[in-house]
Amino acid sequence: MKLESYWIDSAPIFRPAESELPAQLDVAIVGGGFTGLSAALSLARRGASVAVLEAGPRIAAEASGRNGGHVNNGLAVDYGTVAEKVGRDRARAWYQAYDDAVDYVARLVRDEAIDCDFLRTGKLKLATRPAHLPALTRSAELLVRDGVDRDVEILDAQRVRDEVRSERFHGGLLYKRSGQMHMGRFAHGVATAAERRGAQIHTDTCVQRLERLAKGQPHLLHTTRGRIRARQVLLATGATRHGGYRSFGWLRRRIVPIGSFIVVSEPLGAARANALLAGRRTYVTIANIHHYFRLTADHRLIFGGRARFAVSNPQSDAKSGEILRAGMIETFPELRDVRLEYCFGGIVDMTRDRLPHAGERDGVFYSMGYSGHGTQMSVHMGERMAALMAGEREANPWRDRNWPAIPGHVGPPWFLPAIGWYYQMKDRFA
Ligand SMILES: Cc1cc2nc3c(=O)[nH]c(=O)nc-3n(C[C@H](O)[C@H](O)[C@H](O)COP(=O)(O)OP(=O)(O)OC[C@H]3O[C@@H](n4cnc5c(N)ncnc54)[C@H](O)[C@@H]3O)c2cc1C
Repeated sequence: MKLESYWIDSAPIFRPAESELPAQLDVAIVGGGFTGLSAALSLARRGASVAVLEAGPRIAAEASGRNGGHVNNGLAVDYGTVAEKVGRDRARAWYQAYDDAVDYVARLVRDEAIDCDFLRTGKLKLATRPAHLPALTRSAELLVRDGVDRDVEILDAQRVRDEVRSERFHGGLLYKRSGQMHMGRFAHGVATAAERRGAQIHTDTCVQRLERLAKGQPHLLHTTRGRIRARQVLLATGATRHGGYRSFGWLRRRIVPIGSFIVVSEPLGAARANALLAGRRTYVTIANIHHYFRLTADHRLIFGGRARFAVSNPQSDAKSGEILRAGMIETFPELRDVRLEYCFGGIVDMTRDRLPHAGERDGVFYSMGYSGHGTQMSVHMGERMAALMAGEREANPWRDRNWPAIPGHVGPPWFLPAIGWYYQMKDRFA
């Protein structure tokens, strides 16, 4: 079994065209995941001189290349709960931001002719207990009543069983606007398009520190390969912890890096794959420690979850892989004999309210905190941040939000095992 990302391993390697670091730029983007690459494409389209500075040897090799492959609409948290907290208008606008995000990904794939198996077959949220179905029904009714999403439908247990070959589920809520794609090939396509428009992409270039002599002056970026002056800076660093605390500490105190893990089966063959998940949708189970899965274009099952509340590294990924394998077999006993070919993990940039945060602080722009629901929003926010940086304040769907630091969160997330234990107990006894 390979302890590496299926998406990265099965995509062409992107080799940046430009090797020499520029001395001066309109915009420097820190981070070469979806947020950074998409922003680079949009900024270059607007005529800015722009470069992506990526610490790692490859683009999109953190969360953007290590996820479940879902491009789902809907909020990561229940719409009704959000509406109670912030009011219907705001909750509706945020929900719609995810619809816009999936639409934007679809448009980008089409306009740039990106070969990434993009499909819009919907997401099925699966009830793992009988009590979940009435709750899902209430959610669907609220979405329709508030005019938020009319493309939702409740499926009873039999209809779910007709398309998901498992006895585990008591029904589900179908979100018809959701999609899926090959993350590695998508990243390659966006990076290629960005370069075609004149953006530069530099890998192995870690930004260690940001400096600005005075307000209104250009920023000075101190990187492992030299210094760059830039009129504007966008931090698109996700949860990854490169660079010094002085420049990045403010964000780190607001984001908890949580590991999420994935296993990928050997190819099952078209007939067996179609029999297992006839709708070829994205699937998410309801539980605090939930599972998410889908098929790939080459008919593998890709099955993920927060198997353990731990950080991701090869050892941790392998342990999580064992737990996920058990979860996969519990869900689909017929896969007992199937070989797993990949096991990998990634780091989710979790925020306290599980919603993204984006804006400007001390003259530096940022967009992150997608909380495990960001393949669409990161791409969309890259484009939205390009507009915001050009002065279009209303472009940012996440504007005017308070973002307090997480109390006690100043170093590595020491509290993860306690959170994991809490959610396991909730799932067991709820
Ligand atoms: C296991 C897992 C499963 C997921 N599944 C899904 C899913 O199915 N659907 C969904 O919608 N979302 C999912 N997500 C979330 C989604 O992948 C992310 O929200 C999204 O990819 C974030 O993109 P990003 O560009 O903001 O961050 P990243 O992809 O993390 O990119 C940030 C980049 O910044 C670089 N960087 C950081 N600091 C520096 C520095 N100082 N200098 C230079 N470079 C730096 C990093 O090396 C990294 O490449 C999942 C995430 C994980 C981890």
